[in-house]
Amino acid sequence: MAFSTTIRQAYQDELAGLRTAGLFKEERYILGPQGADIEVEFPAGADGRPVINFCANNYLGLSSHPDVVAAARRGLETHGYGLSSVRFICGTQDIHRKLEKRLTEFLETEDTLLFPSCMDANAGCFEAILGEEDVMIADRLVHASIVDGMRLCKAMRDTYKHSDMGHLRDKLIEHQDKRIRMIITDGVFSMDGDLAKLDEIVALAEEYNAMVFLDDSHASGFIGKTGRGTHEHCGVMGKIDVITTTMGKGLGGASGGCVSGRRELVEMCRQRARPYLFSNTVAPMIVAGTLKVLDLVFASTERRDRLEANTSYWRRGLTEMGLDLKQGESPIVPVMLYNAKLAQDMARDLFAEGIYVVGFFFPVVPQGAARIRTQLSAAHTQAHLDKGLAAFRKVAGKYGILGKGKREIMEMYGK
Ligand SMILES: *Cc1c(COP(=O)(O)O)cnc(C)c1O
Repeated sequence: MAFSTTIRQAYQDELAGLRTAGLFKEERYILGPQGADIEVEFPAGADGRPVINFCANNYLGLSSHPDVVAAARRGLETHGYGLSSVRFICGTQDIHRKLEKRLTEFLETEDTLLFPSCMDANAGCFEAILGEEDVMIADRLVHASIVDGMRLCKAMRDTYKHSDMGHLRDKLIEHQDKRIRMIITDGVFSMDGDLAKLDEIVALAEEYNAMVFLDDSHASGFIGKTGRGTHEHCGVMGKIDVITTTMGKGLGGASGGCVSGRRELVEMCRQRARPYLFSNTVAPMIVAGTLKVLDLVFASTERRDRLEANTSYWRRGLTEMGLDLKQGESPIVPVMLYNAKLAQDMARDLFAEGIYVVGFFFPVVPQGAARIRTQLSAAHTQAHLDKGLAAFRKVAGKYGILGKGKREIMEMYGK
């Protein structure tokens, strides 16, 4: 069947529907490398505009770090451009295994397996580890890639209310008849920036004989005193059975992910996880770059300390000017606006002021919970932060929401 006029029209109508609903996503082109100061072409065809980036996952400011770029370049020269193979045929080099060992040391687990991305790690690991006689019990706000991975797995699926330990306990009791109970959570939740109560989760897992799965993509490299992640922050290192994380955020920002944890579970993934078996290996220059990132993170906590200081300065500044923030301890700082149009309008005005942030609204967050999600970086200087705060004061002032809480903002703008 051809791509007929009728079928083309049907897709055009659907895309037009997205535009009408205000849900159409448009790319903004960055002219040059990722960083705190970037030049952005938006709308497409416009001249590049210099803006300060407050919406990247470049938490440690390593995305374009000269040492990382140099290490990647060396890796390109010593190990070539690509492997033209999946890992288990002829796609594993010495540096792939070296990075897996380094990640194991970093996360303080027993073994690690690289994947093309954390999306792939999450898509593959549940199916590889769990079967029909098991149950997966996930926090209701886990990342979309975990939801997809759970869908691909034959184990029973269940959820508990976000960070509600009473509800999780009920679910663990309910599922005592299963062979394995696996509790599944993000370390830092990406939309709200709050941390999982991992110490309580581990305690419940011990009480009710369950395994714990942690996706620490928004934490690896900077949460915890030495940046090992949420398990370090919560004092439960060595007690998490499976950790997945990405190299595409704090750890250099290129791409790649991993499954790390109990030796046998990682081995099951090496034998069975489909994205590992059927998708190409991580490119050597990315492996070499990530090895350098880990060297930098092992050598000093200076970057994660600066990120922490930047985050508290930013939170304090926004709070003192009277904006309504989601509370949390991560460098994800959501400014609550409740109304979708208000979030979009303010993001557009902030962009005009040279501040790059994005408005989030339904279906990415619940109805009536629209927000601008700001993200801090160790690459932000005092001047960046002060300029950002001044812009927020000006734009929020224009919309009359300084000093206003949820109820007042909703009365002014509706849901
Ligand atoms: C970003 C993210 C992922 C996806 O990571 P990629 O390596 O980009 O595929 C998975 N899980 C969580 C919690 C994330 O935030």
